[in-house]
Amino acid sequence: METLTLDEKIKLLTESARYDVSCSSSGSSRANTKGGIGNAATSGICHSWSADGRCVSLLKILLTNVCVYDCAYCLNRRSNDIRRTSLTPEEVAELTVNFYRRNYIEGLFLSSGVVRTPDYTMELLIKTVRRLREKERFNGYIHLKLVPGADPLLVEEAGRLVDRVSINLELPSRESLALLAPDKSRDSIFVPMRQVSGLITARRDEGRRAPPFVPAGQSTQVIIGATPDSDLKIMTVSEQLYRRLGLKRVYYSAYVPVMVDPRLPPLTSTPLLLREHRLYQADWLIRFYGFAADELLDAGAPNLDPELDPKTGWALRHRELFPVEVNRAAYQLLLRVPGIGVRSAQRIVRARKVQRIRLEELMQLGVVMKRARYFISADGATSGELDLSPERLKGLLLPGKKRRSGPEQLSLFPLETRDVSAITGEL
Ligand code: SF4
Repeated sequence: METLTLDEKIKLLTESARYDVSCSSSGSSRANTKGGIGNAATSGICHSWSADGRCVSLLKILLTNVCVYDCAYCLNRRSNDIRRTSLTPEEVAELTVNFYRRNYIEGLFLSSGVVRTPDYTMELLIKTVRRLREKERFNGYIHLKLVPGADPLLVEEAGRLVDRVSINLELPSRESLALLAPDKSRDSIFVPMRQVSGLITARRDEGRRAPPFVPAGQSTQVIIGATPDSDLKIMTVSEQLYRRLGLKRVYYSAYVPVMVDPRLPPLTSTPLLLREHRLYQADWLIRFYGFAADELLDAGAPNLDPELDPKTGWALRHRELFPVEVNRAAYQLLLRVPGIGVRSAQRIVRARKVQRIRLEELMQLGVVMKRARYFISADGATSGELDLSPERLKGLLLPGKKRRSGPEQLSLFPLETRDVSAITGEL
């Protein structure tokens, strides 16, 4: 390994970390302790140390970009001829505290290539966060990557020191993982994920006196577009991760072609950022709108429509359920109307307890009439055009059509935004 200055090492190791999008500082709230440094806030706002604008409130860095694994999509894979370097646990701890004191960051996102073995790497990562917590008395937010295949005792030890852990699923199917990340296995990823999930539940059951264990939960990342896996496959896995293992977030990362490899797709492939955007929208519908993955997609149409958001696509395939009478419909059905989001559905339910809602009042309740008008009635009245064919309706609902009434519905996630944790919106 060549000799580099500390600045050069930091530059290299923050650059090497930038393709991991599974960081978000949301979900952890902890006041500073006497004599300690920092607190963990629930703001969810990510500032980033990396140059591409992601997650900048965290110092996002690798302990080392040396890696004995050879994942096809990764810049740091062992067969790639790049400059290699490492920081010591002491250097990372000191750097974090210095940056924190200078107000550059609010916390640390620490990952690493696999040095020697998963256990050896995990021990180095634990040594770093232990030094931060115990010697530097750093009380700020720490998100630590778990190394696939690490010993369960090390996983548990790590979880007691940090706010959030993540282990990247990387690819949604066993076959894709075997093809592109042959050193990893499904078990080496799912075993620690299940362990963390079980320990979080056990901690919750033990009550307030129990020592903390990843209070901000766990997240993961799936790379999209590097393999032929469909959106149905991806969303089915995500749904299971949310419902069975209680993950806080699944992040979708459009494959960034940094490597030339015959196993990878050609560089000029599908518009992956748009696909990533649609997956985030579908993810939102599963988490907050009560949709199941197999309602949004099926074997006949396994990929999300790039032209329409997934909720509108679902509504167009289920015209028999509409129009929905806003004065009677169940809350869960209101949520399924394009142009009605969580907040506007809640307002409708509250308002109709007092008096019947009329069509012209819906905009004031936050309903985006430009879209909802084709799917609702209010006190029997409609705004017309309910019997359009799905094709004609799709044409009218496509973004960019001339506005007919009501305010423009903002896109839930700007296409260029990878980290959507700070954005809320209604679909
Ligand atoms: S384990 Fe794979 S993804 Fe992680 S740094 Fe090594 S080569 Fe990259």
